[in-house]
Amino acid sequence: MGDMQYDVVVIGGGPAGLAAAMFAARRGLRTQVVSKDVGGQLSLTAWIENYPGIDGIGGRALVDCMLAQAKRDGADWWMGEATSIVRNEGGGFTVSLRQGTPFVTKTIILAFGLTPNDLGATGEHALAGKGVYYSAVDDAPQQEGKTIAVVGGGNSAVTAALALAPRAAKVHLIHRRAKLNAEKPLLKALATHRNIETHLAQQVVELRGTEHVSAMVLAPTDPETGVVLSDPSDLATLLIDSVFVQIGFRANTQWLADVVALNAKREVITSKDCETSTPGIFAAGDLCDIAYKQAAVSVGEGVKAALQAFKYLQEHAGKPAVMFDWDVREERGAAAQEAASP
Ligand SMILES: Cc1cc2nc3c(=O)[nH]c(=O)nc-3n(C[C@H](O)[C@H](O)[C@H](O)COP(=O)(O)OP(=O)(O)OC[C@H]3O[C@@H](n4cnc5c(N)ncnc54)[C@H](O)[C@@H]3O)c2cc1C
Repeated sequence: MGDMQYDVVVIGGGPAGLAAAMFAARRGLRTQVVSKDVGGQLSLTAWIENYPGIDGIGGRALVDCMLAQAKRDGADWWMGEATSIVRNEGGGFTVSLRQGTPFVTKTIILAFGLTPNDLGATGEHALAGKGVYYSAVDDAPQQEGKTIAVVGGGNSAVTAALALAPRAAKVHLIHRRAKLNAEKPLLKALATHRNIETHLAQQVVELRGTEHVSAMVLAPTDPETGVVLSDPSDLATLLIDSVFVQIGFRANTQWLADVVALNAKREVITSKDCETSTPGIFAAGDLCDIAYKQAAVSVGEGVKAALQAFKYLQEHAGKPAVMFDWDVREERGAAAQEAASP
């Protein structure tokens, strides 16, 4: 595969991608991460209690630590969106980006997780980032004294409404079904905030605004199915300063349909060693057809994908593959000792 720009390009900077980047870099691979954000879903997690070895930690703090480790070990970081993968004639792949020069690489690790669902409302895409947010409430600019809409009925939406209520003038919580499906303690807390108004069996069908969102149009739905009634005679308009869309996630793998095999849920099909149907492309984390979508699982899968990519490259170069990582630390320790000795 000659002298290619990178040994491995990791697409996605959530737990899977950050772990893969760290372990690939530790094996001495020229490693490039491309990601739309830092930390993925983990950065939306206010507090994580089930990450082994840590009693409890904010999602953002854990992400910062993982990023620092990946960079310490030599991985390069590029903030951006991968839009296509093409196999090169002489071997390896080209990863194209929405903006910027494509990366040419020997292997790829797909780790781009799950993407927040959008509303499908008229005007939504033009206003994304202009008062319309799909991220954690902490990521959005100042919300003090504002009128804010939160869309969704699960734990994420109710948690967002509760986080916003103390600083907002008013929070509209909009859900397309007849009942919120968040956990009981969250629903109980909701009732203690007078400035949260819940709108049930309503769907956002339009977002209005030019430079920034200023209003939303709600249509009534069938409360059982959540489907907009075919002749919505009762449209309502709410004046708002911002919207937080919290209606779940999907595997956004459509752009890879010709590159790797997907299952019916559009998840990337992987072997137990994180191989995809295309040799040289590996995958890890929530975007894969694995049963458990959890931070610790994604981290473990990311590590496996990196070691498997290393093995693939070693075998292609006719060299032995090493299937563990701790010898890197021992090599470093020996080098440090040698440097220190007179
Ligand atoms: C609110 C919330 C709370 C959670 N709480 C917990 C918890 O307490 N414990 C737990 O174990 N798990 C929890 N999870 C689940 C956990 O966060 C996920 O399982 C984990 O983040 C998945 O990691 P990942 O790296 O596979 O994908 P993601 O975290 O989804 O990261 C994907 C990354 O890829 C990037 N990306 C997407 N498309 C592209 C593209 N085309 N080009 C470049 N980059 C791209 C994204 O920007 C993102 O950085 C929670 C999730 C949420 C949403």
